[in-house]
Amino acid sequence: MQTPTSAAPGIEPGLWSREPARPRSMWEAMARGLKNQCPRCGETKLMPRFLKPAAHCHGCGLDLTPQRADDFPAYISMIITGHLLAPVVIAMAMAGWTPGQMAVTVMPGAAALMLGLLQPAKGAVIAVQWWNSMHGFRREG
Ligand SMILES: [Zn+2]
Repeated sequence: MQTPTSAAPGIEPGLWSREPARPRSMWEAMARGLKNQCPRCGETKLMPRFLKPAAHCHGCGLDLTPQRADDFPAYISMIITGHLLAPVVIAMAMAGWTPGQMAVTVMPGAAALMLGLLQPAKGAVIAVQWWNSMHGFRREG
């Protein structure tokens, strides 16, 4: 039986329509957020500026003002950076490096890693909030 929305027999409904491809899981929405894409349509940038989300998506019209990422992306960045660099610092200490040498060597990499992780972490947090209808995001059908 042919559905009313299909364009032609044998063509999947929605394939040629302008309806954005919604994510099938929270993980897919998170992957879009990690890539700085809108979690709902994946067609436009979630954050046109470094950590400033757009007010709404220009692709699907999703209102992004209800997001409340707050400090959580910074916590995620610090936790990942700490876990990645802890073995390096321990190895340096066991090799006889002084604390000053370790700080001068590790701090630039730690700062770069934390800054590099901030935007993907924020995108993923916003995507999780949208998927779970948290804060002002409304549940979608
Ligand atoms: Zn969108």
